[in-house]
Amino acid sequence: MLDMLLKDQNIEFQCESSQVSPLTKCTKDDLLSFLEPVQYLETNFYEPVDGWLKPRNWQWDWPMDPTWAPSDTKCDICKATPCDCISTLPKNCYRILYYGAKGRGIQARAPSRGGLVFGKDQYIGELTGKLVPPDTYDDSMTINLNRSDIDEEPVVCQVYCQDRGNWVRLVNHSCKPCARLITKIVSGKARVMLQARQDIYDGAEVTVNYGRGYFKNKNCLCEICAARAQSNQAAIDFNTLSSPEGQG
Ligand SMILES: [Zn+2]
Ligand SMILES: [Zn+2]
Repeated sequence: MLDMLLKDQNIEFQCESSQVSPLTKCTKDDLLSFLEPVQYLETNFYEPVDGWLKPRNWQWDWPMDPTWAPSDTKCDICKATPCDCISTLPKNCYRILYYGAKGRGIQARAPSRGGLVFGKDQYIGELTGKLVPPDTYDDSMTINLNRSDIDEEPVVCQVYCQDRGNWVRLVNHSCKPCARLITKIVSGKARVMLQARQDIYDGAEVTVNYGRGYFKNKNCLCEICAARAQSNQAAIDFNTLSSPEGQG
C-alpha cells in the first residue's frame, strides 16, 4: 500500500529515507510519522568537530564553516559579487521516480511533453547535507568538497547526505551520465552543484558518475551496464543452445 501512495510523488516521505520495521509492529504514531514529508536541508549543516584540522593553505580563522568564502569572492555562475544565483536555480523541474532495482531516482520534467528541461552546462541544483571533516566517510552518500579558490585546491570537507540533505542526493549513477556534481563558488559559498553536461529533455533520468570507488564490491545497475549484461546473457544462452550435445 505504501508503494501505491508513494509512486510518482514529487516529495519524499520519512518511510522512504529511514529504516521502516514491519508495518504490523508499528504504533499509530510511528505510521503517521512515516507519512510526514522529509524536510530538506536548504543549506549545508555545519557544526565544529574536535580535531578537524585546518585545510592546507586556508588563510582565515579556524575552526569555521569550510564553505565560507570572503565577500569579494566572485560567483562562478554570474562572475559578480554579491549575487542571488543560488535562489534562482530552476524550480519544479524534476520529480522523484522509482527506477526498478536502482531504487528512487530523479526524472527531468518540463511543462511541455518532451520539452527541454535543462540546457547544457546549466546548474540544476545544489547538493546539501552535513559538512564533515575530510576522509570521514567513503560511500556513495558522501562527496568531497574541494576549493578551487584556494591554492592547490584542497578538500576542505565532505558533504554527507545519508541522514539529511535534499533531493539532489537521490540522483542515481550512470556510466554515461547527463549531469555531474562539481564544486563551485556560488553566491558567496563553496557548494557542490549539480550541472547538466548536455541538454536534458522531459522524461530523461538525471544521472551523474559516482566514480570508480563506488562499484568496488557491486555490479553497476545503470542502463549501459544493464544492457551489456543482458546482451552477454543472450550470448551465453545462444552458445549454450547452439553447442552440439555431447561435445567435449
Ligand atoms: Zn552569482
Ligand atoms: Zn554502469
